[in-house]
Amino acid sequence: MRRLRVTIRGAVQGVGFRPFVYRLATEMGLRGWVNNSPQGVFIEVEGPNESLETFLLRLQAEKPSLSFIQSLEYSLLEPAGYDGFQITPSKATGERVAVILPDIATCPQCLDELFDANDRRYRYPFTNCTLCGPRFSIIRSLPYDRANTTMASFAMCPDCRREYEDPSDRRFHAQPDACSVCGPRLALLDAQGILLAGDNDALRQAADALREGRILALKGMGGFQLLVDARNEDAVQRLRERKRREEKPLAVMFPDLLSLRRYATVSPLEERLLASPESPIVLLERLPDSDIAPSVAPGNPYIGGMLPYTPLHHLLLRDLGFPVVATSGNLHDEPITTEEADAVASIGSVADLFLTHNRPIERHVDDSVARVQLGREMLLRRARGYAPLPIAIKRTLPPLLAVGGHLKNAVAVSRGSEVVVSQHIGDLETPKAHAAFCKVIGDLLSLYEVRPLAVAHDKHPDYLSTQWARASGYPLIAVQHHHAHLASCMAENELEGEVLGVTWDGAGYGDDDTLWGGEFLLGDAASYRRVAHFRQFRLPGGEAAIKEPRRSAIGLLFEMDGAASFDSNQLRTSDGPQFADSEARLLRQMMAKGVNSPVTSSAGRLFDAVAALLGIRPLCSFEGQAAMMVEFLAERGVEDGYPFELRPGDPLVIDWEPLFRAILRDRERDVAASVISARFHNTLAEIIVAVARETGAKRVALTGGVFQNRYLTERAYRRLESEGFRPFTHQRLPPNDGGIALGQIVVAATQID
Ligand code: ZN
Ligand code: ZN
Ligand code: FE
Repeated sequence: MRRLRVTIRGAVQGVGFRPFVYRLATEMGLRGWVNNSPQGVFIEVEGPNESLETFLLRLQAEKPSLSFIQSLEYSLLEPAGYDGFQITPSKATGERVAVILPDIATCPQCLDELFDANDRRYRYPFTNCTLCGPRFSIIRSLPYDRANTTMASFAMCPDCRREYEDPSDRRFHAQPDACSVCGPRLALLDAQGILLAGDNDALRQAADALREGRILALKGMGGFQLLVDARNEDAVQRLRERKRREEKPLAVMFPDLLSLRRYATVSPLEERLLASPESPIVLLERLPDSDIAPSVAPGNPYIGGMLPYTPLHHLLLRDLGFPVVATSGNLHDEPITTEEADAVASIGSVADLFLTHNRPIERHVDDSVARVQLGREMLLRRARGYAPLPIAIKRTLPPLLAVGGHLKNAVAVSRGSEVVVSQHIGDLETPKAHAAFCKVIGDLLSLYEVRPLAVAHDKHPDYLSTQWARASGYPLIAVQHHHAHLASCMAENELEGEVLGVTWDGAGYGDDDTLWGGEFLLGDAASYRRVAHFRQFRLPGGEAAIKEPRRSAIGLLFEMDGAASFDSNQLRTSDGPQFADSEARLLRQMMAKGVNSPVTSSAGRLFDAVAALLGIRPLCSFEGQAAMMVEFLAERGVEDGYPFELRPGDPLVIDWEPLFRAILRDRERDVAASVISARFHNTLAEIIVAVARETGAKRVALTGGVFQNRYLTERAYRRLESEGFRPFTHQRLPPNDGGIALGQIVVAATQID
């Protein structure tokens, strides 16, 4: 039994939407209510999990023909015990706060016009209407009027003006309304920024270039994307070399659902997500033997697939008829580029051509990334289609700003009982990322007119976000990293009272100045106790370990066997030892003396150690890559695990030594890596159950970057359920550090109380 809460925004008022919901819910025997407010239509229904999924799919599939959904977000919550189903009175009251909509994928009607040779918008790449098109990426200030958007400089032609002023027209007050006579236009530039062609010629030549295997930078909705034929291995490799992105999987845009199905399996929920107005990248299980270039996602059983979401993408992909890589237009992992001059300067060395246009992008908004696990959506990156929709909180909050963490940064502001979490900003590692971070903060504060009473920040003194907070002049509230993870997951699930947080990630600054990351925190937003954690071990080189799983492994071996661990030659790949003798000597000295080798209890680093011990990943090119490889290895159907020990104490210490000794033994016996990986995952799930039992907590929140791992999350969730616990996961925010700003706000609010 669960309670499903759905918030729908769009053309859902005055079109018979509430009676439709009433009929659907009562027909399905679900209890709850539906109502209407200026913020949208809110629905809550209770029933068995499977019925709720069916309800959700039917809601979308059978909605009244005049309605259009611009945004649909849902959460699965604890049942409230409703009886019957009601249409509750509309909420006319409440703060009349403006909702800024995210950018919305092209609606079916605009799509029809786009390919209708008799329509005046035939093949016009900037077609939109009140139901669809750019919003967040073009708004300069509120109220949302054309003059306050990046469309201000385009004067409407008489035809567009007539539509705009006609209450019966689909484009009545559609602020970005435009056509080929009066609106934005395409231009094709070479890598130096010299104009080559305009309008449909630009589009045709861009398509030709892609067919020839060239790299196209395309100015999309919220920034530049880099496109290349996804079937052309040489071209994809060239893109990787030029972008200096050696291994991270690249997203692929498919012409339509039908063609996508030739490359990946798509469940009903995944289909809903792909075709939704949010239109995110969805991680899908790929089918064998497709003609997708191996370099798109090396060694990855998933593919990040998406569908065209602007008229420009639709035109291009339909002309091409084949899938293209569509990745952020940036170098390394900097924020996505939004301006031509900047794009030419920064990615001119990557792209052969630029397909651009003269509608300015006010702020960067990346493509969102989602995956379905446990039969529900989970966001891994929250940006286009979702940001800046508010997250409703059960309590009223003082105005606060939270600046998030360091990696996968997103910031947040609170007003009333809502928290607005910004679009994904990224890793605050480069000056560009830092500039984007500053801009987004200024942006949120001015758009929402928030005057923060305080700034909530991570306890880590070296994070750029912390330094920004310190220099800001606002009163400060430092929030422990994993406490923020727990509070965020609790707020999303509307949990009050004591909850056990399984807060597992790569690293966060602990209260004892060590690196935490494999913590069990028992508490709520106001306070917590660290009730258990993994046995600590040294990370030689500290930060360097993030990209060198072998360092985690050597740290672990050193903790078990001391200096002797260096003689036993445990760390090998098929090519030989993972460390040269001289390197090993240096690391041994560092750890023996405790120099530049901080201790950690990180669960993420345990995954890294397994990757290195299995010889699959001594080095990696991005944070979390090794953990991902270990997840992908795990063989389904393996049910057993390894021993572990809970050492009594306060906090409890989870000793992984029996577990790693067993892994080493299995490896010596040549047990398949896929089996070892599955057993490792299974053991982690049992550890969660065992600690939950020890602490007596009934409700368990799974949060932190480690829970992006589908195998572990599903296994832990089911094991907890079958042992009588209530597990919770994130719903609308990512479990990784992209979700901590919400937690920081909620924690800070309790301190202001
Ligand atoms: Zn439309
Ligand atoms: Zn016009
Ligand atoms: Fe974290």
